[in-house]
Order: sequence, then structure tokens, then C-alpha cells
Amino acid sequence: MHKKIGILGGMSPESTIEYYQTITHQYTDRFGDYGYPEILIYSVSFQAYVDWPNQGRWDLVAQDLGRAAQQLEAAGADFILIATNTMHIVFDDVQAAVNVPMLNLLTTVADAIAAQGLTTVGLLGTRFTMEKSFYPDALARRGISVLVPETDDRAVVNRVIYDELVAGQVKDDSRTRFAAIIERLAARGAQGVILGCTEIPLLVSQNDTTLPLFDTTRIHAEAALNLAIT
Ligand code: GLU
Repeated sequence: MHKKIGILGGMSPESTIEYYQTITHQYTDRFGDYGYPEILIYSVSFQAYVDWPNQGRWDLVAQDLGRAAQQLEAAGADFILIATNTMHIVFDDVQAAVNVPMLNLLTTVADAIAAQGLTTVGLLGTRFTMEKSFYPDALARRGISVLVPETDDRAVVNRVIYDELVAGQVKDDSRTRFAAIIERLAARGAQGVILGCTEIPLLVSQNDTTLPLFDTTRIHAEAALNLAIT
């Protein structure tokens, strides 16, 4: 019997869809049948998760995600994942609210980078992801340093995420701007770039650059599948 996967999703729905599809499609690609693990999705109402971080109310984010995680646990989830990079700021608080284990995105991404032997990577994500210390801290524990875009580029990346990608809008001019930002990170020494927001892979793919990209949605979802079937 597979483990039952609990997904804290809706941050945004666009990326939660990708988790669901990755887990189910990957299973079928690998095993040739439809025997994928059962999946519970708790899709939050996203507006509060836009407002609370902007107000600095990470305590409310932690409280509400903790409550949602308890619902997943009560519904039978064997483990839980938070399907967004940004909300890993409160990962420890959410883990403390439940008894089942949680699968940390940052650990899975660090494993993927270490497997390629890279030591300096660029990071694209929301302004919280690019400017708070949780990402560099987690990767430093694996000997990996993080470069973030300069101020103007960070503003572009953040705006495209919240004004376009979470609404399902994928625009060619934004893709071009992201590709240029990735090139600037490469010029500063990045050996690869983390697509550190679970919507960015909707916009940017490995076809847009020669630099290795780390698709956090795919890496985290595949790790969830692997955990569920072991
Ligand atoms: N999905 C995004 C992320 O991975 C941003 C949306 C959010 O959670 O605020 O960080």
C-alpha cells in the first residue's frame, strides 16, 4: 500500500495543479498503470496568503497552515507537503502542529543541486523567498551558496509571479525578461538557477537557457511520489 499524500495547496492553484499532474503522470510513466498513491489536497483561500506576508503577519500564516495541516492529518494523510516555496518560511511551525512527517521542499531541492555537484546557484522567487534568509540558510547547510537578482530584477520577478503567474497568465515578454535575469545571474557566477517559486516553471523551462535549472515544483512533487511508494 502506498502512503497517502497530503498537499497544502492553493498557493496558488496554478502550481497545485502541477503537483497533482506530476505525481500521477510520473507514476504512470514509471510503472505503466494507474496505481498512483491517494492524494488529499487542502486548497486554501489564497488572498489571505498574499495579504498576511505583505503585512508581516507570518504568525497568521503559520497558524492557518497549521490548522489546514491538521485537517489533512485527520483525513488520513501519511505525510504532508507545502506546495509553495515561500510558505516554507513557517515550515517548522506547521510541522509542530501535526504528528505526521512533512516533506520539506528545501531539502529536496538541496539534494537535487548537490547531486549535480553545484556549489553556487541563483534563486528566483517571490520577494520573500529572495530576500529572507530561509533559502540561503537551508542550502548553506549543504555547502551551497545562493545568489539573488539585483533590486530591479527582484521587483520584476516578484511582480510577474503575483500579477501574472498566479492568475495563470504566461506572457512571452515576461519569459524574455526572466531569461535575461538568469543570464545576469550566470555572469555573476551562478552555475545553475533555482526556479524557487512553484509557478515559475509555467513560464521558464530548460529550453530558455543553457544554465541548469532546478524546477522546484517537479523536484518536490517527484520526491513526494518517491516517498509515497516506498
Ligand atoms: N507559489 C509561490 C512559491 O512557490 C508563491 C505563492 C505564495 O505561496 O505566496 O513561492
